[in-house]
Amino acid sequence: MATATIQYEKITPPREGTKIGAEEGKLIVPDDPIIPFIQGDGIGPDIWAAAQNVFEGAIERAYGDRRKIVWFKVYAGREALELYGDDTVLPDDTLNAIRDFYVAIKGPLTTPVGAFDYVCLACALEQDGPNGQRPSKCAKCGSEFVTPRFRSLNVGLRQILDLYACVRPVRWIRGVPSPVKRPEKLDVIIFRENTEDVYAGVEFEEGSDEARRFIDLVRECTQRDLRPDSGIGIKPISISGTKRLVRKAIRYALDRGRSSVTLVHKGNIMKFTEGAFRDWGYELAKEEFRDEVVTEAELWEDHDGEMPEGKLLIKDRIADSMFQQVLLRPDEYDILATPNLNGDYLSDACAAQVGGLGMAPGSNMGDYIGLFEATHGTAPKYTGQDKVNPGSLILSGVLMLEYLGWQEAADLIVQAMERTIDQKRVTYDLERQMEGATTVKTSEFAQAIVENMG
Ligand code: NAP
Repeated sequence: MATATIQYEKITPPREGTKIGAEEGKLIVPDDPIIPFIQGDGIGPDIWAAAQNVFEGAIERAYGDRRKIVWFKVYAGREALELYGDDTVLPDDTLNAIRDFYVAIKGPLTTPVGAFDYVCLACALEQDGPNGQRPSKCAKCGSEFVTPRFRSLNVGLRQILDLYACVRPVRWIRGVPSPVKRPEKLDVIIFRENTEDVYAGVEFEEGSDEARRFIDLVRECTQRDLRPDSGIGIKPISISGTKRLVRKAIRYALDRGRSSVTLVHKGNIMKFTEGAFRDWGYELAKEEFRDEVVTEAELWEDHDGEMPEGKLLIKDRIADSMFQQVLLRPDEYDILATPNLNGDYLSDACAAQVGGLGMAPGSNMGDYIGLFEATHGTAPKYTGQDKVNPGSLILSGVLMLEYLGWQEAADLIVQAMERTIDQKRVTYDLERQMEGATTVKTSEFAQAIVENMG
């Protein structure tokens, strides 16, 4: 039985299933965990239905009746607007459910990016209303789900729930078309800091009073003149923010028997932010994991370059060199820990190397909470067509199953997906890059994966 302690406004946790617990840095996972899910906007419902079919198929195949997930539908984006009204796109119910149940999974959500006042949550068109008024219907698709622009729901979820690590594994799924000759050589997990750096959102527009005051302050503190027509952005990187991210990366590496953690930074130019990230990362590794790690300097000074058995190597690379390394010597890298902006660029570059974002899984992690998500957007032009690739959400579910400790089910999915791609039964996006492939629908791709689990 669920033992919900939180009062929800418009949703009710399932009566069956058990809450995941958390103790001393670890999750306590029952055999019937309740897991909240957000379907997402646009193609969300299509890829969610497909992914759910795959998750349930794998769990049943791996554990029979012994284990199952009890899904708990929670709302964000268009569906939230429909249920809660009042322009509510990220209800407290949803945040509370994720806090309460620790592990959740989501499809993509519409994010306004332009300077328009309103956005349609059905087709993602950003628009202004007639005479500054709210449009009664979307100018493109006619939907009523037009809402005033709002901050990114993804960023909102990360910030409100303090999901400070964006974790993206990047490895090649056999058969996926790739632009490089040996895509299988790249197998990294990127731990990107998620809350600070230039993403802290402190910016002042060129010509504003604040920008002028900052320019004056910089002159006063450094005797340097910035151009008076500059916009200003702030890049905070803290000891606490860095250490909790690096701690998570090292713990993950040790738990999974991985070989190295590389701190990726631009410390040669930005000493007190990126350089400090590197220094605090090494400091944390020595303070908290002294007996389990060897730094690259120690490797050469104390061990003649021979890695001692059972230890984790901690090294660092300058960000621009890291982009070369993942192409030229990918198999020398394993876990990468990066500040926010480096991680943003590096995640997409690595994903491209193994075949693109369409198949890249992602997760946002706090101390206990894990929110797993497709990394692509809502692809609104394909809404309801049962056409797009559900691979990113399915592989995010694989991460989720691994986080639960259900490795057998996770492995079944990856093997079955590889088999399906080997059979060239793929969605349109992969078909157009493969010779002799057959295009299947979203739901058919998922069903083929389930059938291939035998
Ligand atoms: P997008 O939704 O990622 O789609 C861009 C293109 O990528 C699609 O037209 C399609 O290319 C391809 N694509 C995306 N997902 C695919 C899938 N599952 N299978 C096959 N192809 C796929 O990017 P967007 O059009 O720039 O953004 C639409 C909305 O999503 C915006 O509101 C944006 O802010 C939001 N967004 C949300 C998230 C998130 O929730 N995490 C992330 C990014 C964007 P082809 O047309 O060439 O087939």
